[in-house]
Amino acid sequence: MSTATACQHRHRFGREISGAAADFVIAALRRTYAVEDLALTGRDLCATIGEPVAADAFAGLMRRLEFVTGKMTDRTLYENRPGRAAPPDPFAALVARRDVQPIGPGMFVLQGEFLRLQRHFDEHWRAIALRLGAVEQDNPAVWPVELYRKIDYFADFPHQVILAAPVKPHHADRAAVASAYARREDYAAVATDHLAPSTFGLQSAVCDTCYFALQGARDHHDTLYTTRNKVFRNECSETGSLDRLTSFTVRDIMFVGSERYVLAQREAMLEQAVAFLDHLDLDATIAAANDPFFTGDAMIKTVYQNAADLKQELLVTLPFNGREMAIGSVNLHQDFFGRCFDIAQPDGRPVWSGCLGIGFERLIYAIYAQYGLDTAAWPAHLREILES
Ligand SMILES: [Zn+2]
Repeated sequence: MSTATACQHRHRFGREISGAAADFVIAALRRTYAVEDLALTGRDLCATIGEPVAADAFAGLMRRLEFVTGKMTDRTLYENRPGRAAPPDPFAALVARRDVQPIGPGMFVLQGEFLRLQRHFDEHWRAIALRLGAVEQDNPAVWPVELYRKIDYFADFPHQVILAAPVKPHHADRAAVASAYARREDYAAVATDHLAPSTFGLQSAVCDTCYFALQGARDHHDTLYTTRNKVFRNECSETGSLDRLTSFTVRDIMFVGSERYVLAQREAMLEQAVAFLDHLDLDATIAAANDPFFTGDAMIKTVYQNAADLKQELLVTLPFNGREMAIGSVNLHQDFFGRCFDIAQPDGRPVWSGCLGIGFERLIYAIYAQYGLDTAAWPAHLREILES
């Protein structure tokens, strides 16, 4: 057998895979294997993968993906197509005027008008939450490993995990790291046995710590919470732009309590999301999501997620390339966190929960992408934000 690292895999689906289904298949493959090259045209898929993959494992994955995409629906809850002219991609100009300063893949320092807009929209959603009586929270932006374990995160989302570890607490380890990674050395990554095992990681969502902190609660009453922080994903944009970030800012409004309360709050949050997009008059939709999980046992969860409408995404258009980008979502977890963290309602049943989340970097990027960089030409309701 050859030791070549690249191997070629072909598959012919039973039907044409296009549009959202094709995007899903491609994303799922990329999240599962070290894909180097991938083409999907009509029924035919051709993949070059930079690691050995058994043919039957690959064929099995293709069968599951075909099944899942057959179940995908395209249910749209809200649609607004204002039909404005398409300005050019604002990214380079935002960088040139230093509102957006790239410091690494998917990492940006923000300032100026961009940051003012971010603050404004965060305050907008915070005010909605507080008006509805939400308990405001701050969270540490890191998850203890116990949290990951209890929600089986490593099994479902290994591709998104970013763990952190300190240097081992012995002089020899500290001295070895100090010497190997001194400024005079040339390195772009740190890989060493002198790091201690990870006991925490960077959070990939802002709301999980709220439920984790409720562990063991016996009589949790219907409650709204809100929090804002950075979240972290092991990904970045293919073009180095703001469409996909390693670290970004999210405001969540979480609702925890009885099934009836949570379903009612979910509807109320969807209404808030519609009002928000409508007020901004963005080219946007709200639609049921098909999240590409790592394709282990989680495969079936995607089908289920769509079937039960567990996740509605706020999707905005980037007119310069015609692509849709999610700027937020309204999620229904049912009693998932209630069971994982043993949180009980007064009647003893596990609590239900759900959340609305808005990501600000993408939202503001979309506003510039749709309205252009010349804020003097923006409609009055948007200009007012900057004047306030
Ligand atoms: Zn959330």
